[in-house]
Amino acid sequence: RAFNFSAGPAAIPTEVLERAQKELLNWNGYGCSVMELGHRTPDFQTILDKTEDDLRKLLNIPKNYKVLFMHGSASHQFAMVPMNFLAPGETANYLEMDHWSKMCIKEASRFGDMHIQQGIRTNSDGLLELVPENEWSLDEKGKYLHFTSNETIVGVQFQDDPQSFSGKLVSDMCSDILSRPIDIEKYALIYAGAQKNIGPSGMTVVIVREDLFESFQTERVPSLFQYPHVSSKGSMPNTPPSFGIYFAGLVFEWLLEQGGIEEMYQRNLKKAHMLYDYVDQSNFYHSPVAKGSRSFMNVAIQMKDRKHEERFLHEARENHLIALKGHKTFGGLRASIYNAMSIEGVETLIRFMDQFEQRLK
Ligand code: PLP
Repeated sequence: RAFNFSAGPAAIPTEVLERAQKELLNWNGYGCSVMELGHRTPDFQTILDKTEDDLRKLLNIPKNYKVLFMHGSASHQFAMVPMNFLAPGETANYLEMDHWSKMCIKEASRFGDMHIQQGIRTNSDGLLELVPENEWSLDEKGKYLHFTSNETIVGVQFQDDPQSFSGKLVSDMCSDILSRPIDIEKYALIYAGAQKNIGPSGMTVVIVREDLFESFQTERVPSLFQYPHVSSKGSMPNTPPSFGIYFAGLVFEWLLEQGGIEEMYQRNLKKAHMLYDYVDQSNFYHSPVAKGSRSFMNVAIQMKDRKHEERFLHEARENHLIALKGHKTFGGLRASIYNAMSIEGVETLIRFMDQFEQRLK
């Protein structure tokens, strides 16, 4: 298998794919795949319960939070959050970062008034950086503050939970969930599409504080989009994304076997430091993101001479290093180094980058 640096759908640990392959035709001696198993069967309920339990263990999710496995994508949550939290005419705070938070604000503005605070800017060296919290101006009466903990496209990541808003925090954690410890109790709601650190696309995990359900404004919201309804039906108001849930369960078991989130966090930091250290000492590559704002999941890299990019990507592919092209809106290169990327993969990438530079000298 190649070393896959895709931003999403992203690499899945080989051991997990092998196990899924083994179980594909005959899960647990049952004679069929989980894909073919009725979702109302006790067997599927066991899978769902174990998947939830393992996620609770991994993230240390308190009992007063509900875990929902939902259909669809993070983009559905862009709309669902304001649909549930806001009554017509109410306001919420949104930190505007890059592509994903802009998409999120666009959807949310259909359901309420947006108080927008810039979360990202270009500094005097031309590098992207987070706007420091002491420069934010938020609407304290806003129903919540929504932020994207890691902007996948440009590779900018919050280094800490925001401190300055006294109200509810809501976070899109698509691209850094399960990569680092999270203090769940600081949040009203967290959501993440599956396709980076959880499993195949098409399923979204939502972690939400249960006591908020009473305050949700859901009369005009379709029932499948109401968090309390989905929760009261145990994530199964209708046929759930059953194979996605099973697959997430395999990934969660793998994470527990690896030593859990603290271990993954240390590995992730190590991988990111190796790559940034290499790029920082190079005269050939550079990082477009300022230190202190850099993502340890999506490492944006630019070549000082951008005309070499196509050749770099081509030769990288020939060396089994795939999906290193930056997002079309940002350009350059990007190495997404989620949980499934090994230290060996990052070492191989650095070696390739170095050899590529030498070849052009
Ligand atoms: N938010 C972030 C941070 C993302 O990286 C992505 C992309 O994968 C999305 C939202 C959108 O996800 P989806 O395509 O599942 O709607």
